Amino acid sequence: MKITCPGCQDPSATVKREGPFFPFCSERCRNGDLQKWLEEGYSVPGPPVGPGDIEPGQFDDTRFDPNDIGDDFGIGNLGN
Ligand SMILES: [Zn+2]
Repeated sequence: MKITCPGCQDPSATVKREGPFFPFCSERCRNGDLQKWLEEGYSVPGPPVGPGDIEPGQFDDTRFDPNDIGDDFGIGNLGN
């Protein structure tokens, strides 16, 4: 009975029933199928949230620079 490798599905690929990679023809196909299975299993529904989703300036705290607060509020010039 001819066994077709589920990894590459190449009819010319040789799958050894007693081989270490059964039912795949090679280690590469076995790892590829395993990787695909893991990616599907660990996929999380919903859009991913990454650094790109944060709007520029949202955490911009440069205007809270302590050196500028005195100038903005005129601290140091009171009473003049
Ligand atoms: Zn294969």
